[in-house]
Amino acid sequence: MCKQTDYKYSCGHTSMKGVKACGKKTCLGPDSKHDIEKKTGDCYDCKTRATSKKVNEKRGGGKLAKNPPH
Ligand SMILES: [Zn+2]
Ligand SMILES: [Zn+2]
Repeated sequence: MCKQTDYKYSCGHTSMKGVKACGKKTCLGPDSKHDIEKKTGDCYDCKTRATSKKVNEKRGGGKLAKNPPH
């Protein structure tokens, strides 16, 4: 059986790392049981979300942006 490995991040999300192929012709693909490799830090999604949130705060959070010019 092939084996799929997943990353598990500190944020709790998992993402697929890859599949180790066993090379057997009769193999039906990776098992439903995945190997877990722990990763410290947030996943890509959470990282980009945190970054875009910061950018939004910088762009739209200021009081000046809320006042129209007239
Ligand atoms: Zn296999
Ligand atoms: Zn995450």
